[in-house]
Amino acid sequence: MTNFSVIQEDITSLNVDAIVNAANSSLLGGGGVDGAIHRAAGIGLLEECRRLPDGQQGRCPTGEARITGAYNLPCKKIIHTVGPVWHGGKYGEAALLASCYKNSIELAAKNGLSSIAFPNISTGVFGYPKEEAAKIAVKTSSEVCACLNKIEKIIFVCFDLLNYKLYKELLSI
Ligand code: ADP
Repeated sequence: MTNFSVIQEDITSLNVDAIVNAANSSLLGGGGVDGAIHRAAGIGLLEECRRLPDGQQGRCPTGEARITGAYNLPCKKIIHTVGPVWHGGKYGEAALLASCYKNSIELAAKNGLSSIAFPNISTGVFGYPKEEAAKIAVKTSSEVCACLNKIEKIIFVCFDLLNYKLYKELLSI
């Protein structure tokens, strides 16, 4: 059984198997949580990301996930996933956001990682409504973890109080 928890914290400080980065498709860093992770991990992370194959939709298309080392961070690995930009909800945003959680958890499991910390993907600069995003995060993660039966711990790391309260309510904790 997977344990689900919520904390209000800087994700870069966490000593888990994998933290998830809400990246953009270039995987070369950006603002928000992405910028914080690159700054804290150090230049080695950027160098590894640059070496990843770059395709038509960048190094990581929306909804997919890639894994790298964690360099100066206390976690073991970083899983980079690219959330959808919110365009009103009729452009497949929900399915793409669900894919981010699904692909990140499956990639972790494939790499033998069993504790994962997620930021609130797409709810910053990408503008996804927080309540809808939280529902997708909790539902998808629960379903994927139940199916895989390999993940011990999922931590939803909330930076702002609204997200923290939303996740607490959804998880009834
Ligand atoms: P996106 O482009 O996917 O919207 P952002 O980084 O702008 O990504 O925001 C995603 C979420 O990450 C937001 O809820 C934001 O408050 C949060 N966030 C920003 N910095 C950190 C951090 N250091 N640790 C955890 N969460 C963070």
